[in-house]
Parts: sequence; C-alpha cells; structure tokens
Amino acid sequence: MKITISQAPDYNEKEVTIGAWLANKRSSGKIAFLQLRDGTGFMQAVVVKSDVSEEVFQAAKNLTQETSIYITGKIVEDKRSPFGFEMQVSDLEVIHVAEDYPITPKEHGTEFLMDHRHLWLRSKKQHAIMKVRNEIIRATYEFFNDQGFVKVDPPILTASSAEGTTELFHTKYFDEDAYLSQSGQLYMEAAAMALGKVFSFGPTFRAEKSKTRRHLIEFWMIEPEMAFVEHDESLVVQENYVAFLVESVLKNCKLELGVLGRDLSKLENIKTPFPRITYDEAIELLKEKGFNDIEWGEDFGAPHETAIAESFDSPVFITNYPKDIKAFYMKPHPERDDVVLCADLIAPEGYGEIIGGSERIADYDLMKQRYEEHGLTGPAYEWYLELSKYGSVPHSGFGLGLERTVAWLSGVEHIRETIPFPRLLNRLYP
Ligand code: ATP
Ligand code: MG
Ligand code: MG
Ligand code: MG
Repeated sequence: MKITISQAPDYNEKEVTIGAWLANKRSSGKIAFLQLRDGTGFMQAVVVKSDVSEEVFQAAKNLTQETSIYITGKIVEDKRSPFGFEMQVSDLEVIHVAEDYPITPKEHGTEFLMDHRHLWLRSKKQHAIMKVRNEIIRATYEFFNDQGFVKVDPPILTASSAEGTTELFHTKYFDEDAYLSQSGQLYMEAAAMALGKVFSFGPTFRAEKSKTRRHLIEFWMIEPEMAFVEHDESLVVQENYVAFLVESVLKNCKLELGVLGRDLSKLENIKTPFPRITYDEAIELLKEKGFNDIEWGEDFGAPHETAIAESFDSPVFITNYPKDIKAFYMKPHPERDDVVLCADLIAPEGYGEIIGGSERIADYDLMKQRYEEHGLTGPAYEWYLELSKYGSVPHSGFGLGLERTVAWLSGVEHIRETIPFPRLLNRLYP
C-alpha cells in the first residue's frame, strides 16, 4: 500500500510504502535513523540491522541528503516524535541518488539561502511557513464564500494605476503603454456594483525602491469590495475576517506553529472587536512615546506603527487619516474635510500594516474633482468615473496583504520567507 506521511496515523501497525526524500540521518553499526520528508510531512524511519537484509542496511547507511527513495515498513506509534508515528523499515529502494546537497544541517547565511531558494523551500521551517500560507488562503475562501461574496479576478495588465504612478511597473501592450496591477481596487468597485459583495485574490506589483523587511516587489492581496456597506460596517467584516484567519491557523496548523516556535499565547488572546483609534489619537500617542519626528499630516513609517502596536495586544485600527496622504477615491469624513473615512489595520508585535481600507466616494462630481486634483485625466479612467453615474451607492472595501499576514501568524521576521520565490529590490533569482 503506497501512502503519504500525512496518512500514517491511519495505518498504525500496518505495512506500507512511502515515497520520500532523506532530510537527515544518524547511524551506528547496528541501527540507522532516517529523517524523511515527502512534502506532506516529516517522519522518522528506523532501520535495524538484524531486521533487514545486509544490502538494505548498507543502502540506508549510505543514503545521501535529498536522495529520493521508496521505503517500506510498519507504521508504529511513537509518542516522542512530533508527528506521533515512525516507521520500522523492512525494505528500501533508491530512486535517485542526490549529489552533494548545498544546504546542510549547519547554519547558512541569508544570501546563500536566498540564492538556493528553490532548494531551501524543502527545509522544515520553510515547509511550515508555506503550510501556514496555504491555510490562510484556504480560510479566506471559506470565510468569503460563507458570507456570500463572489470571487472576481481583476486584470493584471492595466492602462491606469489605482493609486499613484511612482511605484508602477511599465510594459508595452502592443502599441499602447500598460502597467502591472498595483491593486485591483477600481475594478473591484465595478464588480461590486454588478455582484454586490466580491473579493479578489491575486498578485500585485509595486516597484518599491525601499528595502524593508515588510515590502516585496510582487505580493498577493485579498481585496473585498462591498456595495451598500459603510465604513463602520466594513471594519466589522475586516476584524471578523482577521479573527477567522487567526482561529483557522491555530486550529489547523498546530504542528507548523510548533516547528516555527510561534508564541501561541500572542495569537490565542486575539478577540473581536479590535480596538480603534483615530489618526489624531495615534499622533498623540506617538508624541507621548517621545516621537518628535512625526507631524500631523505625515504618513506613519514602520517604527511608528510598531510603537503604536506596542500599546495593544491585538490588531488595532487607525482610522480617519489626512486626505492628502490617502488615495483619491476615499470618502471625506462627513464632519471634517481634512480627513477621510479609512482605516489601516496594524498587526501586533511589530508586523506592521496588514490591511488598508476605506469607504469610497460615491458622488460623481466629488469624484471628478478629486480626480483632477490628483492629475488623473485621460481615457484610462473614464470607465471608472462612469460607475458613479448609474445608481451610485455607499460602498467600502479593503486590501489585506497575504505575505504580511503570513509573517505575523508564523512569527517570521522578514517577509522574504513568506512567499515561495520572493521578488525583492535586488532579487529576481531564482
Ligand atoms: P505600506 O504603508 O506598508 O507601504 P501601503 O499602505 O502602501 O503599505 P496598501 O496600498 O494599503 O499598502 O495595500 C494594502 C495591503 O497590502 C497593505 O496593508 C499590506 O498588507 C500589503 N502591502 C502593501 N505593499 C506591500 C508590499 N510591498 N509587500 C507586501 N505587502 C504589501
Ligand atoms: Mg506602501
Ligand atoms: Mg500604508
Ligand atoms: Mg495602506
């Protein structure tokens, strides 16, 4: 019977075959301990000299790291192993003998590991991060489908930018100019007018010139957009969504969080509603904490977000930012014309902004005026302006950065480890 490592618990005391790679091994004259991985998990296999043929025992002893094998034996319960099971080996067949593997159990520098990302992905820690990433994606689909959202895919090649023009990737589209999507936002507004509640999940490209541990050049964003939903109602959707992600990862990634050494108490205490403070209050808080480098009207940098987050043990919404530092489509505050109905959700523990959202302008004349103030003219935007001509309604939406969320929930310091093949300022390889 051919099974995967993840299926082992269902085959206790049964003889099975597993296709696997050798991750590590220890051996003495009479016994060899093989650490196996097959993509679905990690497991130890024990080869006892007196239980197998001489040929099999020698083969096991000589296995090189990453050699692929079919290994056969009995699955037995083993309380000491993190997985709970191990294999008592009876037979072993080598599929392919791996050459000297560059990534050994010893420590390697980051640049070396990044150059070998295609192989580094096989390590236990990277495997755990990718599983957490997958769980967040799975839970995202579950959450929005259960709430009646329709998944819509906005284009990647666009004639216009959603926000500004500085971070755009330019490319040719036959004889026209095109840009890689910075956000699906404008298209998602059109989709919400057609389908009510929609969400997208796709790649986003930003030519970020700054080198930080939170910015990728290519990252994935989940962008829900909701018709007939006002700003405050959108915040409730956001906190329920994020709380659901935390709960799902805690429930379905126990092993992975263990491998990552994640401090679970930091996640287990996260409850809705999340605290909300205004941008004005955030400025006050920063002044109290001794920040003299920030004035009303400026956007927060990573140190500011980290300092604000320190005052809370859950994600915190910062609402009502100055209109001049936010996108043109955000709705002005009804009582103040210098701030907009928006919020950033800041993760705890210094992981930074994970969501940016707002209520959108629904009034045609105001939208046109904001457009022109931003110098956004030309045919590329005409379709978008038209949306507020035909049955315009209050609507809100937000964007959650997948990799920022993976970093936070996994407890990894740098965003480069949260995506299989990171695109960074100085890295397009592998
Ligand atoms: P930041 O202030 O950190 O640069 P932003 O305000 O420019 O982020 P938004 O335009 O609000 O980002 O995008 C929505 C979400 O996408 C952010 O809250 C964040 O989670 C994520 N995000 C934005 N830029 C990046 C990036 N370069 N790499 C990874 N995730 C990003
Ligand atoms: Mg940015
Ligand atoms: Mg921001
Ligand atoms: Mg933002």
